[in-house]
Amino acid sequence: MFNKSKIKILFLSAEVAPLAKVGGLGDVAGALPKALAALGVDIRLCLPLYGFIDKRIYQIKKIKTNIEIPFNNGQQKLNLWQTFLPNTKIPVYLIEHSYFVSKKIYQTKRLINKNKYSRGQTDINRFSFFTRASLEAAKIINFQPDVVHANDWHAGLVADFVATLKETDNFFKKSKTLFTIHNLANQGLASPEIVNVSGIDPDIITIKDDLKNHDLVMMVQGILASDLINTVSPTYAKEILTKEYGAGLEKVLALRKKHLSGILNGIDIDFFNPETDKLIAKNYSIKNLKGKLKNKLALQKKLGLPENEKTALIGIVTRFVKQKGIELIIENFSKLNCQFVFLGTGEKRYEDALIHLTNKYPKKFSVQIKFDEKLAHEIYAGSDIFLVPSRFEPCGLTQMIAMRYGSVPIVRATGGLKDTVKTQVGFTFKKFNSGTLYKMINKSLKIYYKKPSAWRRLQINGMKQNFSWEKSAKEYLKLYRELLK
Ligand code: ADP
Repeated sequence: MFNKSKIKILFLSAEVAPLAKVGGLGDVAGALPKALAALGVDIRLCLPLYGFIDKRIYQIKKIKTNIEIPFNNGQQKLNLWQTFLPNTKIPVYLIEHSYFVSKKIYQTKRLINKNKYSRGQTDINRFSFFTRASLEAAKIINFQPDVVHANDWHAGLVADFVATLKETDNFFKKSKTLFTIHNLANQGLASPEIVNVSGIDPDIITIKDDLKNHDLVMMVQGILASDLINTVSPTYAKEILTKEYGAGLEKVLALRKKHLSGILNGIDIDFFNPETDKLIAKNYSIKNLKGKLKNKLALQKKLGLPENEKTALIGIVTRFVKQKGIELIIENFSKLNCQFVFLGTGEKRYEDALIHLTNKYPKKFSVQIKFDEKLAHEIYAGSDIFLVPSRFEPCGLTQMIAMRYGSVPIVRATGGLKDTVKTQVGFTFKKFNSGTLYKMINKSLKIYYKKPSAWRRLQINGMKQNFSWEKSAKEYLKLYRELLK
């Protein structure tokens, strides 16, 4: 039943799992809203209708055609479609426009400049349009949001759009904005024309300030113009205020320090559940860890690694980008008494280095260059150890998923990795270098081979952790309430 006192949230994300996902952002957008809805929040999602999304599978229905909005120095027409997050009553509104017919979420390549990443102007325009169109969608469905909750640089212009609309329209009069940073390194560097293209009021103070050096950074707009900002772990929230982790925005963030907090992500504990997971060879639980060994054997077989349930198997599921520290794994690691499986896609230099290792030591290394949800689950279930050696990590989901499957994490002590991997569940190392990681793997292997009961304790402690979204959702609800005061 419709409840008038429910907090109303319009949630904008470029990715929403399972409809459209590249990484953690998609997982968060597919799971956090469910936990918020369970707390009584009226939350509605907006997502571009990408060309690859199957309308039939997700039962996506057209609800309004030929909606016009000013964009790119003219009127643009869009269609609005709707579905629900699978198995929920949470509406997802999808924006149909020629901007999104592409088979990819991100159409342009990543551009790298001094440890900051951006995308080409096409993506800047696409996601600015998405942000503006999402606000229009709210009007069309007559959903006056208490808070517009925008995620990452894609939706960084949200507060500027809301401010611009407020000048002529009462609809968003009471709406506040929350901006969540999932990864500060991806910033969305736009040329100044974006102000004209988007139709944002050029007199907005944060726009004027940002344009002083002849560009506009969507992430900076999200940080400066939104009412509150947060990031996805308490440690990362502190780290990004330093030069080492601030990706050049530490001074901008310092201006908003009072309005910045860190809320740890959760994981979808129903989707990632070794007891019920349909994607793995054999279901298992804390009470029956032997089932895990069947998954290891099946994985070894699938990958062409020597099939031996005693050999320690180390898994890695990640994007192969500089952030993730893949280059720490070098030839020397072939001396370790274990097998490695890598699943991921990304930069060619990392892919090539891993292919080289696999070709040279096919009994020790297996690299799978693809995005493959099933294989990811098989690795979580089949591995004994899970490696996340990131340079920086806003939260990181894979270490939590691994623990849920009884795979013991070895992580670099940074960001959300530091917040989630304590000594009773895994291993951490500080120095970002190959030798330190090597030693840590060696140490863990000694325990794995020589102290099986201690190893079992680590596994069980990890599997008992509560990584559900409930706790985090309560903290988001607190932020929303703070905004409504
Ligand atoms: P990031 O958001 O930086 O990519 P996270 O650890 O937050 O990293 O989230 C990664 C998510 O994407 C996890 O759900 C992980 O299982 C998934 N993932 C990453 N690469 C692949 C891949 N090649 N195949 C399947 N799933 C992947």
